[in-house]
Amino acid sequence: MQTLESVSRREWKVFPFGLVLPGIAGIQWTWLNPGWNDDIRSGSLDRNRVRQFQFDFSGESMDSPDRVTIENRPIKETERFSFQCHSGLSCFTGCCRNADMYLYPYDIVRMKNRLGISSGEFLEQHTVTAIRGNPFFPNVMLKMSDQDDKACPFLSGNGCRVYEDRPFSCRAYPMERGVSPLDHIGNRDILHFIAIHSYCKGHGESREWTVREWIENQEILPFIEMNDSWTDLDVIFRTNPWGEQGLNAKAFKMAFMGSYNMDAFRNFVFSSSFLERFAISEGRIKDIRNSETELLKLGFDWITFFLTGKGSLSTG
Ligand code: SF4
Ligand code: SF4
Repeated sequence: MQTLESVSRREWKVFPFGLVLPGIAGIQWTWLNPGWNDDIRSGSLDRNRVRQFQFDFSGESMDSPDRVTIENRPIKETERFSFQCHSGLSCFTGCCRNADMYLYPYDIVRMKNRLGISSGEFLEQHTVTAIRGNPFFPNVMLKMSDQDDKACPFLSGNGCRVYEDRPFSCRAYPMERGVSPLDHIGNRDILHFIAIHSYCKGHGESREWTVREWIENQEILPFIEMNDSWTDLDVIFRTNPWGEQGLNAKAFKMAFMGSYNMDAFRNFVFSSSFLERFAISEGRIKDIRNSETELLKLGFDWITFFLTGKGSLSTG
């Protein structure tokens, strides 16, 4: 039987802020300060506050001298922005090197299935972990090549070899998304930003998009749904639910498995007394057998349950 100890034997690295890689895709998703809600509604959110918050959130500036963020502005859903990325641009695939790329749980599901490897193998081969903005939960980041150009391991001569399942950050750029935690009636505030970087020529192209059109064109919706739910877990993690044991706590290892290691979590669900302990309908069991997205949703529900006693999961 899969045990919790056997599924998460990883070394947790804390990167000093000076050593992180500069790159394009540092923050493509942001936890919005609930205090901004009124400003969002009135449209008066100050972009300097957003930028400062993103520094605070990530723990360091993303910019290096050759990779300067020119602008990062909130944008309304109906507003248009210019952008097109294509192989005719001199910058093509430049942003796939030396990038500081956060991976969210749903990114791992999509990429490891595209590569035909297990989530444990993906985590081992293609990620590093770093404590960044959340001191109580490590960020999982894409491990770049150790060659001089620090290229993404999925970059080929023809571009991205995981393109259909590329992660949220690659997919959404130049759009970033900010969400507040769910309120007591299940609503959340949402804000989008457009980031413009000095090296990206795509902003000079004439093709225009609204946020909604971009989300549809880049097939971002399933990523949004899962990342927004991840926000709610991140809020819980920020309360240090592990106590003094920190990242050695069994609860932390369970939470990491239920978020990032779906193959281990599936074994755990189907090889332990999990399904006897929780009231889960036959229909949902069938769904989680057939879909790793549904399995990940169960993982999120399970983590919420054992850390807070709340949420949609209940014991049978
Ligand atoms: S246009 Fe921007 S996103 Fe596209 S390859 Fe160039 S730098 Fe990357
Ligand atoms: S996953 Fe694909 S698009 Fe993203 S950095 Fe790697 S090669 Fe580029």
